[in-house]
Amino acid sequence: MPIYEFRCKKCKKIFESLVLSPKEEETVSCPKCGTKGGEKLMSVFAGGKSDSSSCSSTSFG
Ligand SMILES: [Zn+2]
Repeated sequence: MPIYEFRCKKCKKIFESLVLSPKEEETVSCPKCGTKGGEKLMSVFAGGKSDSSSCSSTSFG
């Protein structure tokens, strides 16, 4: 589901909004103060999808 987290630039309120298209990002408004154009945050919930090349265990030394 295309739900992203946004952070209000004005009151720093973090809220989630359904974004169906990239243009929707600039139409999202803060539910607290109503400021449009929140700052998009990185998705915090990462799925268990591992499709990259196999990575060996890291070892510092
Ligand atoms: Zn706000």
